[in-house]
Amino acid sequence: MRIKYLGTAAAEGIPALFCKCPTCMEARKRLGRDLRSRTQAMIDDTILIDWPADSYYHMMINNIHPEQIKTLLFTHIHEDHFYPLDLGNRKKGFAHIDGCDPLTIVGSMDILTEQLNNVVSSMQSEGTYHVEVKTVEQDGEPYVTVDGYTVWPIKAVHGTEHPLCYVIEKDGKALMYAHDTSEFLPETWEYIKKNIKHLDFVSLDCTEGRVPMSYKGHMNFERDFVFGEKLKELGIATDETIFCCNHFSHNGKVTYDEGVKIAGERNYLVSYDGMEVEF
Ligand SMILES: [Zn+2]
Ligand SMILES: [Zn+2]
Ligand SMILES: [Zn+2]
Repeated sequence: MRIKYLGTAAAEGIPALFCKCPTCMEARKRLGRDLRSRTQAMIDDTILIDWPADSYYHMMINNIHPEQIKTLLFTHIHEDHFYPLDLGNRKKGFAHIDGCDPLTIVGSMDILTEQLNNVVSSMQSEGTYHVEVKTVEQDGEPYVTVDGYTVWPIKAVHGTEHPLCYVIEKDGKALMYAHDTSEFLPETWEYIKKNIKHLDFVSLDCTEGRVPMSYKGHMNFERDFVFGEKLKELGIATDETIFCCNHFSHNGKVTYDEGVKIAGERNYLVSYDGMEVEF
């Protein structure tokens, strides 16, 4: 299994629009891995996680053909993850993709917004480029994609009604994608204990970077380390499991190099736009 990080920032991006804080000023000087667009990731060229406004730019600079994506998973509907208007460019007349695979859009019931419903029904009424929407919840059945990935919806703790994290499994490999969330609720840990046997890769929310906070809805390096220990205690993660800190904000006050130093002490990786990890 392979994850490719297309965008690795929280809502404002790094540097943040309009911002002159030291982290943003430093990012404008350093460029490279210190420039972070809004969060999106791709699994094995077939599953996209989230569709922010930066998706167009991500598809272009990474030479990704989004018409080949079969499943689009939404974590939640904050604007750095959910920009359904652009999906309307998949409809007839805007795109010429006869014979391409259908796209299934998966998320909690929160994604059934007027905006998404309008976009999907306009695509469906054009008849050709089939799109369907599937809602999932932690206590329902896991979703199985057309190409055989099992997707477990996991309740996130974040500022929308039904935010989700996901565990994605195929051929004995499994990845946890845990953004945007705080530590899970006790019932969620129980659910994970019951259903998930092993994780090869864990991507954790690091919005608050090195700022010591107990903010509900996001985490920082310290809390990512505690989260990882909890997975190890449960026997779901081992010393072989790869952990990666992702979804950074300028308010977390950390450059890429500083992040690598902090995370490296615990053998965690730090994401950057374009980073790929195979496991
Ligand atoms: Zn976010
Ligand atoms: Zn800033
Ligand atoms: Zn959010």
